[in-house]
Amino acid sequence: MSLIKLSNIEFSYREVKSDSDFSLSDINLIINEGDFLSILGPNGSGKSTLIKLITGYLEPQCGEIILDGTDLKNYRQKDIAKKIAYVPQIPTSIYPFSVYEIIAMGRFPYLGISGFEKSEDIAIIDKMIELMELSHLVNKGINEISGGEAQRAFIGRALVQQPKILLLDEPNAHLDIKHQISIFNLLKKLNNKEGITIVTVMHDLNLTSLYSSRVVMLKNGKIFLDGKVNDALIPEKIKNVFEVDVEITTDVNSNLRTVLIKPELERS
Ligand code: ADP
Ligand code: MG
Repeated sequence: MSLIKLSNIEFSYREVKSDSDFSLSDINLIINEGDFLSILGPNGSGKSTLIKLITGYLEPQCGEIILDGTDLKNYRQKDIAKKIAYVPQIPTSIYPFSVYEIIAMGRFPYLGISGFEKSEDIAIIDKMIELMELSHLVNKGINEISGGEAQRAFIGRALVQQPKILLLDEPNAHLDIKHQISIFNLLKKLNNKEGITIVTVMHDLNLTSLYSSRVVMLKNGKIFLDGKVNDALIPEKIKNVFEVDVEITTDVNSNLRTVLIKPELERS
């Protein structure tokens, strides 16, 4: 079933655009319930912009975005937040909130008029702090911890929203390899067991190959490719989009595919 449908989206940051300005154009994309979709593309190809359009944070100049059968424009912010949670690319806050406060913010769409968390909300927040291995940091300021710890706090904030769709913008950028695997295993479990739809911007082709079912590649603000992970992650497509040679190998025992980057090394 289609959860999000983007039709004929055109977007540029400036109302009056010159030819050299970046724009997203001809974006037609259906995100189905249960997808584990990775969005790939070079720097500046429009990945973060696309994610921000889906959250309603940016509005397209043309086209429409339908979320769960209703035009995104007709939603209240709080109702979007019950369906979509978003983990930004750079996990910082302009205010010095604590790790606890950041995670607790995720319950905002569920608070009543009193504005206070109920015991049920507090139990959800406490469980998430444990799951994200942040118990020792709850009182620390979000800007006083490492990038990876902050990333886990923002992922925790998104998950306590109990969304149908989780949008993540390069979630592994700051994570050490242990936490990359634990976060992606958790995302996969949420996807498989609870049917949460995952849409994530990725740079790591191996993690993409291991965890996602579908890939969208952006190139110069357009969708270059939308397909199953094994059809999308092939040397010709990767070369076309990233201008890099790769070799794909499949492990005979596990059947897992590895993308090996083969740079042209300058030898002196
Ligand atoms: P990606 O996430 O694929 O690296 P982005 O979607 O962040 O790319 O950016 C796409 C293009 O839009 C880039 O050229 C970037 O400089 C430009 N851009 C991003 N944010 C803004 C903004 N707030 N105002 C103007 N241009 C922007
Ligand atoms: Mg980006």
